[in-house]
Amino acid sequence: MVNLGNRSPSRNIVDRRPPGAPDRPARSRGMMIGFGVIGALAAGALGVTVTGLNSALEFIGIERALIAPGMEAPRRAEIDDFAAVILGDTERIWSAEFERYGAPYQPPKLLFYAGQTTSGCGAIQADFGPIYCGFDRQIFLDLSFFDAVSGDFEARGDFPPAYIIAHEVAHHVQLLTGDMDIFYDRIDAGNEPANQLQVRFELQADCLAGIWTKQADQAFDLLEEGDIEEGIAAARAFGDDAIQMMDRGVINEASFTHGSSEQRAEWFKSGYDSGEMAACDTWTQEYDAL
Ligand SMILES: [Zn+2]
Repeated sequence: MVNLGNRSPSRNIVDRRPPGAPDRPARSRGMMIGFGVIGALAAGALGVTVTGLNSALEFIGIERALIAPGMEAPRRAEIDDFAAVILGDTERIWSAEFERYGAPYQPPKLLFYAGQTTSGCGAIQADFGPIYCGFDRQIFLDLSFFDAVSGDFEARGDFPPAYIIAHEVAHHVQLLTGDMDIFYDRIDAGNEPANQLQVRFELQADCLAGIWTKQADQAFDLLEEGDIEEGIAAARAFGDDAIQMMDRGVINEASFTHGSSEQRAEWFKSGYDSGEMAACDTWTQEYDAL
């Protein structure tokens, strides 16, 4: 179990759920979690860049939630509080980290919605899973995400949802550091397949989530026994090979967007072990060496 202590929740929560929405929406066994990112620049351009894909949204990697059917979902208020404290922790850690570099940290907002909603990056649906939109500087979370991860709260601890929030916040950090610009500039340059560039970008986000985990643990005793193993297991579960195997029974590396299970776990660990931004350079090495 993640230790939330008495730390204050973030105030950067936007609740766009209708009043009276159920605590437990109908469970969707096949719900996807797309730890996605929709660009700071022209989201629509992505869909054009990536051959064979119909829209920018399909370019987003889709990752399946760890769902444990039949588990009792925690009450919504409990989950809201959890997400708000974890978001607060990302603000505490990234503010301090940015200060080291003399730059102010402007936190993203975390928006709760139910079913579907609109964003500066276009329509957002629950199927996408948690998503960051750079235009809005917002992370979008649907109620069913909470339902889907509730199994983890009960069965496998609650670190995976914290890691997912940290990964989405990492995309915002990438926007602030200019790494998102590198991503889109390289896509425009066209020297490397767009999906490979996205793998670089996503693995960097996993690494940044690892840095956050390490620093939050040092600062607040965030982790309790088994949490880090849960995080690594979650990173593995969300690997492209694992998802493709589950969805289609075949692995096609040429279409990876987030990296393999091994890569995701390794980059999360690199960030966690070092706790340093320098460990998260996924741009300079050969793609095969990532
Ligand atoms: Zn991502």
